[in-house]
Amino acid sequence: MIPVRGYDGHRVAVLGLGRSGLASARALAAGGADVLCWDDSEKTRAAAAKAGLQLHDLTRARAFEDVVALIVSPGIPHLYPAPHPVIAAAYEQGVAVDNDIGLFFRSYATPDWDRFDILPRVVAVTGSNGKSTTSALIHHILTDQGRPAQLGGNIGRGVLDLAPAQNGETVVLELSSYQTDLARALAPDIAVFLNFSSDHLDRHGGLGGYFAAKARLFFAGGPERAVIGVDENEGRFLANRLRESVEGGAPVIGVSAGQKLNGADWSIFARKGFLAEWRRGRQVASIDLRGMTALNGAHNHQNACAAYAVCRSLGLAPRLIEKSLANFAGLAHRAQVIAQHDGVIFVNDSKATNVASAAKSLESFQNIRWIAGGQAKEGGIAPLAGALSHVLKAYLIGEAAGLFSGQLGEVPFEICQDMATAVRQAMADAHAGETVLLAPAAASFDQYDDFEQRGADFTDRVLHVLAQGASPG
Ligand code: ADP
Repeated sequence: MIPVRGYDGHRVAVLGLGRSGLASARALAAGGADVLCWDDSEKTRAAAAKAGLQLHDLTRARAFEDVVALIVSPGIPHLYPAPHPVIAAAYEQGVAVDNDIGLFFRSYATPDWDRFDILPRVVAVTGSNGKSTTSALIHHILTDQGRPAQLGGNIGRGVLDLAPAQNGETVVLELSSYQTDLARALAPDIAVFLNFSSDHLDRHGGLGGYFAAKARLFFAGGPERAVIGVDENEGRFLANRLRESVEGGAPVIGVSAGQKLNGADWSIFARKGFLAEWRRGRQVASIDLRGMTALNGAHNHQNACAAYAVCRSLGLAPRLIEKSLANFAGLAHRAQVIAQHDGVIFVNDSKATNVASAAKSLESFQNIRWIAGGQAKEGGIAPLAGALSHVLKAYLIGEAAGLFSGQLGEVPFEICQDMATAVRQAMADAHAGETVLLAPAAASFDQYDDFEQRGADFTDRVLHVLAQGASPG
């Protein structure tokens, strides 16, 4: 745990007692704060009380007396569509609102660091898709090369549950737009912006608010080095602003999964399955990514380029990075091949919760029996209209089934409602050379706790049918 600095002897309120809220409460208490906890759910409050936390009804009048800060969980709206009433009250009463990421950045460096000969560094990764994969990949390369590293934030452990810094370590943080939007302190040494596409518009008041939330990591965070995916206008804008803002240096490494970036700057790009590093108009390294099955597809090549850029910035040699890229196992629920049977491939891409990530899967596989649906994002799957040429048939589940069925154009579909039916039907229809793909293009919350539970349900059902000896088709 990282004890929170700066609140010793002060009252701090914590709203939302999930993973990050509980960690914040414990870390604040360890730093000497008097912590008052609240959650709208009675069940969650009871569990927190059992764990020894002090409950305090933050919805009551004068709840913020003597409170200096309110720490909020990422799932609770702080601005759009409307601030949670407790947060609105904190704004009115001038109580500083922050989150665990802000607490981490004010607490990670300690006077102990005077004894270190290599200062710890923080790498922060943001973007619309690929954050988890890229963060895990950076962490994997560093640890595989014997460098001390920890992974946290939106993946693995909450930031305040990480261990205090060690000499020379790198902390790799996956940060969502909700987290970067609200954190009062942001101070990464290296920051990554992978890509940008529409998502979470309700929570950011539209696309501009969503981009601004991510851009804060750079404009408020002021990293020494920025790794920027420049395949969209937002990335090009960001790279341009950052390049101009620092004199005499080249703080930006441009990354692309398709374009040749061989200008005067430092850049890493992937084309035709090869990663290339260019500096000052010359190629300095090249890596063949084609045999690396956990990094299949142009989207994963983008992740590999960004991870490579970070590791180069941390001083690792290209050949060492190549070795560790090759033995990366990949992450569950991200275009994960869970089984191959009688020529049919089964892929769990439950984390494809938006249109952009689902499009990557639909491009990467052939002859697809596509299980999609759940809780629709704004616009449904209308933007996928041009990306459905590999789909043989859609098997629609969840709340979104009706909406999606009207947006499929000529693609045959079946409304299956639930995963059990969708898996059964897709497996009954599948023949050799085809792919049964779960890539929902929707959130999971209508039928599941989260995308992991949805992916596990798909996987279990497929493996169960295969274990019973039933052959697809
Ligand atoms: P995040 O943490 O940003 O949600 P993940 O690594 O968990 O990203 O991947 C989320 C989804 O996006 C998965 O369906 C995955 O296959 C897909 N994906 C991974 N990397 C990228 C990328 N660079 N661009 C687009 N989609 C991606």
